[in-house]
Amino acid sequence: MKTFKIRGGLGDSAVVNTAAKLQDNLYLATNSKWLKKAEIPADRSSINGFVELDIKIKKQLLDDLNDFSSNNKNLPKINNLNKAIQLYQLALDFNKRDDDGAKPIKNDLNKLTSLNSFSDFNRQASSLLLSDFAFPFSLSVFADMKNTAKNALYFGSTESFLPDAATYKDSSADQLLSVFEKQAQDLLKLSGLTDDDSKKCASDAIKFDKRLAKYKKSQEELNDIAAIYNVYTLTDFQSAFTSLDISALLSSLFPDLPERIIVTEPEFLKHIDELINSTSFEELKGWMIVTFINRYANYLSQEFREAAFAYEHAIYGLQELQAKDKHAYSIANSVFGEIIGLYYGQTYFGKQAKADVEQMIHKMLATYKTRLNNNTWLSNETRKQALKKLNAITLKIGYPDHVSDLYDLIEISSTKSLYENLVKANQTKIKYNFSQLNKPVDRTLWGEDTPANLINAFYNPINNDITFPAAILQDPFYSTERTLSENLGGIGAVIAHEITHAFDPNGSKFDEVGNIRNWWSEEDYAKFNELSQAEITLFDGIVCGGLKTNGNLTVGENVADLGGLTVAIETAKKENGDLKEVFQTWAKIWRGKMTPQYRKSIIAYDPHAPQELRANVAAQSIDDFYTTFDIKPGDGMWLDPEKRVHIW
Ligand SMILES: [Zn+2]
Repeated sequence: MKTFKIRGGLGDSAVVNTAAKLQDNLYLATNSKWLKKAEIPADRSSINGFVELDIKIKKQLLDDLNDFSSNNKNLPKINNLNKAIQLYQLALDFNKRDDDGAKPIKNDLNKLTSLNSFSDFNRQASSLLLSDFAFPFSLSVFADMKNTAKNALYFGSTESFLPDAATYKDSSADQLLSVFEKQAQDLLKLSGLTDDDSKKCASDAIKFDKRLAKYKKSQEELNDIAAIYNVYTLTDFQSAFTSLDISALLSSLFPDLPERIIVTEPEFLKHIDELINSTSFEELKGWMIVTFINRYANYLSQEFREAAFAYEHAIYGLQELQAKDKHAYSIANSVFGEIIGLYYGQTYFGKQAKADVEQMIHKMLATYKTRLNNNTWLSNETRKQALKKLNAITLKIGYPDHVSDLYDLIEISSTKSLYENLVKANQTKIKYNFSQLNKPVDRTLWGEDTPANLINAFYNPINNDITFPAAILQDPFYSTERTLSENLGGIGAVIAHEITHAFDPNGSKFDEVGNIRNWWSEEDYAKFNELSQAEITLFDGIVCGGLKTNGNLTVGENVADLGGLTVAIETAKKENGDLKEVFQTWAKIWRGKMTPQYRKSIIAYDPHAPQELRANVAAQSIDDFYTTFDIKPGDGMWLDPEKRVHIW
C-alpha cells in the first residue's frame, strides 16, 4: 500500500528506487539509475554533479601544475602563479616532509607549551594572534554592513572542534569529541610531548572547547543578519574584558584605533571574561596547543597526516586520505586559489561561453523584472525599490580582471619547510586584512572565497553582486551541446537562484548598494514574512536519509530555489521551451549521494536543504509542474494548491 508523505515526494528520497514514477518522486525517477551506479570516492564524503566536476577540474589543473613543475609547459604570464607552483612542489616533497617529522613545528609548539601563566598569555596576546596561533576570539576587517563603502572591525567567536554550535547539542557530540581527543593525544605524542602532557592538554582542550561552544552562535542564528550587526563603542567593547588587556591588544594591532567595533555575537562577548581568565588559563592553553597541532598536522609528514585522519573519518565518513598529489594541489589552492582560478579561467573559459552565460543572465533578469512588475502582493512603492535593487545587481562572470595585491606580499621560500611557508602566508593574510581597516572597500575584487576554479555560484548581499566562476559554467549545469530548456533547468535556474538571494529573508534586509536598510513598507514586509514562514513550514520536518530537515535553517536557500526554478520555467515558456526538460534537468543537477556521517553532520548546520528535497519541493510549488507531467491528487508529488508557496 502506498503512503503519501506529500511534502518532498513519495518515500524517503535518499533511498534509491529505480521503479519510482516521476509523478511520485521527481528526484528518484530522474536519478535512480545514476544513483544506483554512482560511487562515493574513498577520499570524499559525497558524489554529485558538483563533486564530479570538481574531480575533473582538479585533475586538469594538477596535470598543468605538474607540467609547469617539470618545464613541460611554459608558465603563462600570471602574477604570482610561480609561487603557487613552488608551494605545490614543497607540499609534494614527502621525502623532505617525512625526514623533517615534527621538526618544523618545534619552535612554535614550544612557544605555546612554555606559556606559564595568564599574565604571560596577556603579554604575548598580540604576537600570538598575529602569528596565526589559535586565538579564543576572532577579529576581522570587512565592509561595514550599514555603510559598505567603508571597512569596519568585527569581533566574533572562533573555530571550535565540532563544526557548528548546534552539533554540540546532538547526541553524537560526546562520541565525536572523544575521537577528537584521542587524535589530539596521538598528534601531541608524535610532536614530542610526553604521554601525560598529551593527555592533560587534550582533556583541558575539550573542556575549554565545550565552554566556548556554549556561547557561540549556531549557523541558524548567524543567518539572522540584523542580529549580527551590533555596534559597540570602543569603550563599551573594552569594558567587557577585565582579565585580558584588550586595550593593549587592540592598540598594538591597530595603530589607528577604530571608534566602533561590530560585535556579531553579543552573548559571546558577554561571557568572554568568564572564558578567558587566570582560572581558565590551563584549559585555554590546552585548547591553543590542540587547535595548533590539529590545524597543522596535515602540513607535516605522512605519519602526521595519518594520525590526523580519525576525526575526518568519524565526522565525514571519509575512507581514505587524499592521494599525495591531490593533497599538494589542495594546499597550493588553499593559499593561491584566486591565482590558480585566474589561470583556470584564462585558459579554459572561452569568450563564447562568457557571452552565452551573460546573455542567459540578462534573460533571467528580464523575466525577473516582468515578474516583479506583475507581482500581486507588493505595493507600488516597495516594487519600485525592489526593481531598483534588481537593476543595480552587478555581474561577475568567469574570472576577475584583477586580484588582491595581497598575493604580491606572500613569499614562498624553497629552503624553508612547507609548514613555515604556510604559517608565514597566513600571517601575511592576517596583517593584510587588518591593514584594510581604514581603506575604502574595493568592490571589483572577487575575493578569496570565490575563485574561478570553484564549482559554485554566489550572491553577495553587501555588494549586491552575483558571481559565476568559470568552473560552474559547464556540464551538467551548462553546455553548448544542450537545448535551451536543458540549460534553463541547469545554469538558468542557478542564475535565478542567485538573483533571488537578493530577495530572500536575508538579502531582503540589504539595499541596492549592499547596506542594511529597510526599503519595505511595513505591510509588504509582513506579507513577505508570512510567505517565508509558509516556505519554512513546507520544508520543516521532511525526513530525508532518515533525518529531519530544519525549515528555519534552510529557508534562505529554499526561497532562492523556488525563485530560481519559477523564473527558469517562466523564461522557458516565453521561449516556447520544453518544460519537461527544464524540470528534469533541475532534478538532475541535484543528484547525489553522501556518506551517512556527512549527511548527519551537515543536516545540523548546512543552510541548504538535502539536495533530494531541493529538487522535489521547489517543483511541488510550481503549478506548471502538475500540468507538465499530469500529476493528480494521490500522486506522491501532489501538493494541494493552497499548500504551494509562491513568493517571487
Ligand atoms: Zn544559494
